[in-house]
Order: sequence, then structure tokens, then C-alpha cells
Amino acid sequence: MAGPLRTLALLGATGSIGGSTLDVVARHPGRFRIGALTANGRVEELLALCESFRPDAAVVADETAWPALREGLAARGLATRALAGAAALEEVAADPANDTVVAAIVGAAGMASTLAAARAGKRILLANKESVVLAGDLLLQAAREGGATLLPVDSEHNAIFQCLPADGGRQGVRRLLLTASGGPFRGRRREDLAAVTPAQACAHPNWSMGPKISVDSATLMNKGLEVIEARHLFGLPPERIEVVVHPQSVIHSLVDYIDGSVLAQLGNPDMRTALAHGLAWPERIDSGVAPLDLPALARFDFEKPDLDAFPCLGLAYRAMAAGGSAPAALNAANEVAVSGFLQGRLGFLDIPVLIQACLDAHAGGPADSLGHLLEVDADTRRRAGQLMAGMERR
Ligand code: NAD
Ligand code: MG
Repeated sequence: MAGPLRTLALLGATGSIGGSTLDVVARHPGRFRIGALTANGRVEELLALCESFRPDAAVVADETAWPALREGLAARGLATRALAGAAALEEVAADPANDTVVAAIVGAAGMASTLAAARAGKRILLANKESVVLAGDLLLQAAREGGATLLPVDSEHNAIFQCLPADGGRQGVRRLLLTASGGPFRGRRREDLAAVTPAQACAHPNWSMGPKISVDSATLMNKGLEVIEARHLFGLPPERIEVVVHPQSVIHSLVDYIDGSVLAQLGNPDMRTALAHGLAWPERIDSGVAPLDLPALARFDFEKPDLDAFPCLGLAYRAMAAGGSAPAALNAANEVAVSGFLQGRLGFLDIPVLIQACLDAHAGGPADSLGHLLEVDADTRRRAGQLMAGMERR
């Protein structure tokens, strides 16, 4: 029997997660409808999606793209409303017409809309990990108060969610084990990483993803952000969240229980599994992902992360231990550093140097004030920008 008809606001529709979500949605006509699609500024891509999915509203975050969106919708004879700007992202995230919000904008740019969805009590498929790192306590509080359901779709967190006790408790849980692929540079020494290019960093061995998270995977900052994300979503202390490198990316994460049982969720590395799980939960639907062929895989490998070659993971643990607004500083510095690397302004090894300098300079502060966190985010971006300008001139 088909579950309830759900109406989705898909934030970040033109991205990698956006595309995977729409692929699953298209497999289940009659079960999901698209209430809103959003993009940053890629109007042509957004228009093509509007043509296929006929949303009630389409939003471009970049207001200068609004005329092209409006005209493009009219030229296609679509009744979709054209909206623009940050407020419009929050508007569709909180719109009573949409019961489900897929939070798939990249970076802290997704925070306000994710928070708006939490306050409005939506079912939230949470991909935008940066908003959890930046303001996890406030986001969870808003979800509690607003009556929202947070469904993790980051593959590791989705795996853990599936392996935790069904009653939502933590009884008997000893540790969470987050798996990491190790990224494209696994096994290399730090000195071998000085000259790697953005194209090499984005060529992930197992996953096809947007550029920012691809670089995060190459530096292991992605795993660092995910440890902080897990701490918030699952409420376990840092010393009970461990990272193990598993290059095949088939075991998506594990939960270790005190009786020695270790439960894992496995699957081919394809985000459509986690997205289908979040879309239909607590039911199961087809995602289009091929069944796992264990004999073809033949083996699973595990190793410890190399914190010397990939210091970003250690920096994330440091920010998590410092607590308060330190993870917000970590995230902002990382966003600036990654964008600098992608633009060819910074070397790969400069990424952790820049982040460490920003953490060293961070004065601390609480995590329970959105104003303070946004100030830390803005201040850190400014500082990181200045530091980057200095590093470029070397
Ligand atoms: P992407 O770069 O492919 O897509 C990002 C989307 O966000 C695009 O639709 C873009 O238009 C929109 N966007 C970018 N900047 C924006 C801004 N300033 N304002 C509004 N919208 C903006 O990224 P992605 O790989 O799809 O990742 C999206 C999020 O999901 C990230 O937080 C990432 O960490 C997380 N995630 C991704 C994957 C994956 O497999 N791609 C896996 C787990 C988690
Ligand atoms: Mg992940």
C-alpha cells in the first residue's frame, strides 16, 4: 500500500543531493509531489526541473537571477511562482503547503532555511551538515519545540539512525563507529599532497558529490563535520564517537552495543538509499539502487585515519572538545579555505593551516545564541579571507 502523499520543498534542487532526491521521487508518482524547488543561481537548470516536476514555487537565492526565472517560467507556460532571496528560502521551508523539507543546500547558507523548517514542524531530510555544525543545539531545540522530525540522510548518520534502538533511546549503546572512505588521497603522506589539484581532490573513488563536500572528503574534514553532526543528532559524547577508514564505502556506519553486538548498515555507495529511507520512513520504497553483490565485492578493509596527513579531522575533534561557538568557527574557516582551494588560490595543505589559524584566534563563546554564532561565522570568514590573502602572496 502506498504511504501518505507528501509534498516536498527541495532546497538545493540543482545539486547532487537534489538530483538524487528527484530521481527517487520520479520513481514514485502519486506518492510525492514537489511543492518547491530552490537553487542558488543556475536558472536554466532550475527551469528544466520545473518543467519536469511542476512545483508550486521556484526560488533562486541570488536575487539578480529572479527576472530570468520569472520570464523562463512564463515562456514555458508554467504556473510556478518565481521567488528570490534568503527570505523566500525560509518562506518555502516553512510553508504549510509543504510537509517535508529536503535540506540540501551546501554550507552555512542552508542554516536559516533548515532552522525555519524545524520551527515550522516539518519532516526534515537533513543533508546540510554545516547547519548542524554551526548551530546544532539551536536546530535540535527548534525541532523539539516546533514538533519537527529530523531524518538524517548523510549516509553515515542514516546508517546509525537505522542501527540504533527502534524506541529512539540509547540503551546499551557503547559507541558509534563512523566509516570514512579515506577519500582520493588515502595512503598518501602529507608531503605528497602539496601539489594536488582541485580536479584530483574532487575525483572521489566511490561517491559522486558536489565540489565542496568532495574536497571535504579529500581532507577528511567531511568526517570531522560528521562527528560533530553525530554528536548533536545522537547525543553521545565525543569519546564515544569513533572514525574508522573503510575504503570500499559499503558499510555506511556501525553501532557498537555493550553486549558485543555491532550493528551495521550496508549498501552500494549511492545517496538514493538514504534519501529513499528518509522520504518513506518508516516504510521502505525502491530507490533505484542495485542490490549489493557481496561475492563481487569479495572483501572489506579497515584502517585507522591518518591524522598526520589529514589534520582536518583532528581540528574538528579539537573544535568539538572546545565546544560553544568553536565548531561554528571551524565550519566558517573551512568553507573559506575550500572555496580558496577550488579557485586555485590556496594549496591543499594550506586548508588545515588556515583553519588552525582561525581556531587559534577564536575567542570562544556560547552556542545557545544564534546572534553570537552568526557573528562568529561572519568574523571567521573575514579573518580567513585576510589570512588567505596573506598566504596567496607567499
Ligand atoms: P552541490 O554543490 O551539488 O549542490 C548544492 C545546492 O545548494 C545547489 O542546488 C545550489 O544551487 C545550492 N546553493 C549553493 N549555494 C547556495 C546559497 N548560497 N544559497 C542557496 N542555495 C545555494 O552540493 P551537494 O553535494 O548536493 O551537497 C549538499 C549538502 O548535502 C551539503 O551540505 C553536503 O555536505 C551534504 N551531503 C551531500 C552528499 C552528497 O553525496 N553529495 C552526501 C552527504 C551529505
Ligand atoms: Mg557522509
